[in-house]
Order: sequence, then structure tokens, then C-alpha cells
Amino acid sequence: MKKIILIILAALIVVGAGFLIFNTGDNKKKDTSKKQVVASNFASYDFLRAIIGDNKDVELTFLLGPGKDAHSFDPTAKDLTTIQNADLFVYIGGEMEKWSDKVLESLKEEKDVKTICIADYVDTIEEKEVDGAEEEEEHEHHHGEDGEEHHEEGEDHDHDHEDGEEEHHHEHEEGAFDEHIWTSPENAIKMVNKLEQSMEEIDEANKEKYKENAKNYIAKIQDVDKKIKEIVNKKVRNRLIFGDKMPMQYFLEYYKLEASAAFNGCSSETEPSAKTIAYLENKAKEEKTPVILYIELNNGRVAKTIADEVGNGCKAMQIQSLHNVSLDDFNNGETWVSLMERNISVLRSALL
Ligand SMILES: [Zn+2]
Repeated sequence: MKKIILIILAALIVVGAGFLIFNTGDNKKKDTSKKQVVASNFASYDFLRAIIGDNKDVELTFLLGPGKDAHSFDPTAKDLTTIQNADLFVYIGGEMEKWSDKVLESLKEEKDVKTICIADYVDTIEEKEVDGAEEEEEHEHHHGEDGEEHHEEGEDHDHDHEDGEEEHHHEHEEGAFDEHIWTSPENAIKMVNKLEQSMEEIDEANKEKYKENAKNYIAKIQDVDKKIKEIVNKKVRNRLIFGDKMPMQYFLEYYKLEASAAFNGCSSETEPSAKTIAYLENKAKEEKTPVILYIELNNGRVAKTIADEVGNGCKAMQIQSLHNVSLDDFNNGETWVSLMERNISVLRSALL
């Protein structure tokens, strides 16, 4: 008799435990009827916003938020819950979004969350040192006397080539990809296509609408690309000079432009050395550049200093790298396309 009671008790405990586990799993289910989509950075957010269009059954979250520096972002506990409750989570990864490693780890049990590393769907390039910026830890290659010597030897093509290869191997050891993938129209279109496909996967019912919205947005990207190409085709100089960071490597490679800058793309520095300022000033004079650039979310102080030193009407102008959007622009509903359109007149001043 006692044995039977024990067996029944044991069975009850097992069943009870089963219910508990089941319940815990159940509690994790989304508390909303809307599809939840989370994008880490502005470009992915903007493209998804365009693809989703007026579909009220999808809620889109811009994780970084306007006006903030992507490199110093760290998700809060609330952000983590938002991601865990998402149907689709889009990120870039790399050094810039190092935090995504731990988020992905925490999502291992959440089979419902579809995760997309959007950088996997574009052609990435390796992080490069930009001309003018001092290397952050190591010896300096490009500066001052070295740089001048390099130019004097410029006629010897074979030698230049060898130099380039050495630098390439050096960079390869460091290995990181450049995370600023959204600055070329080519990549932007690839991102839109992949994000559209991802939306179809989580919400098949609205497939046709997503396809149509993506197609319309791609047409707008192609249109702004065409306008920029018209300017680039008429350029009288090939070099853009940034009194700032330069996170636009993909843009430069796409339009076959060059740049000199005060800092590398992901630098957290804000104060260039006197030597760097002098280098950029000389470069600007050499190129007869009428514009020194600075990017969004920067006050342009360094660019203005350099422009004043150059003189001859040289002025500081803001270029949109679309790394993020300012709060004002965000509230005005500015998009990747509308911000890139602002660059048309800036490039006209800088290149023509
Ligand atoms: Zn960056």
C-alpha cells in the first residue's frame, strides 16, 4: 500500500514538474499580437521602416535610438527584453556592436527570434587606416616626413605597389571588417533586399506589400545614387578632407574617391594633434579644396579650425555618413535617402 502511494506521489511530482516547465515556456510567449521587429542601427531601421510601410500590425524598434553614438551603446535590461520578445532582430556585429555576442548567447533558447547579421549579406571590406589619421597605438607610417618621401618616390610604380602590399598584409593581421556597411548605395540595396526577405519570412501574409515597398525604396536609392554619380563624373578633384572621423570607406570605394581625415572611422578621439591639423591643412591647400567635412552629430569645430587655417574661402560643411541620425532629423522623419540627398550639394562644393 505504502509503495503504491509513493509511486502515485512520485508520478504527481513528475507531472507537476512537467507543468512548471511548460508554464515557464508559456510565459515567455509574446504578450502582444503585433509582430515585433528590432533593428540595432539607423540604416537597418530606416530600410525596415520603408519595407513595413503602413502595416500597423508590425511594431519596429530602433534599438540605438537617434542622436547616440553606436560605438558606446550598451543594451539595457529593457533592451534585452525587447530583443527576446522580437520576431526579428537585425544587427551588424563586429567591434562596433560587440554587445551583440552576449545578446545572441542569451537568445540561444529563444527559437522564436529570427536573428539576421545584416553584414553577412553585403560585400564587406577590411577596416583601413585613413590617410592623415594617426595610428592609435602603433608606429606612424603615413605622416610628415615619411609621407613626403613616399610622394617623392611616387614615380616608381613597382615600389609603390610593394608598399601597398606590405600595408595590406599588416592590416590583414588585424583582421576586422569595416562595420560602416550602409554608406554605399550598392550595400544599401542589398540590405533592403535581405530585410524584405526576412519580413516575408516572419509575416508571409503581407509578402506582396513588402515586395512593393522594397522595390519603391530601392528606386529612390538608385535615384540619389544617379545624382551623386553625375557630380562625381564632373569632379575636378578626387579627395575629400574630413576634419573628423571618416566612417565612409564603402562610399569612397563605390564612387572611387579618396579621403584624408583627422581620425579613423571608429576612433573615439575628438582632439587631433597639431601635426594632424597641419597635415590636413597642407593637404587641403595642395588639392585646392574649398570644403573641410565633418559628420553628423559633430559640432564641426575641428573642421572649422582647419578651414580657417586654409583660408581662401575654404569652409566647413557637414556630410551625412548615416552612422546615426540626430534627434531633430529623426523627429522630422528623415530617411537614408533624404539624408543622402543632402550630401549632393556638399559633394558638389567639395569635388567641383
Ligand atoms: Zn563608426
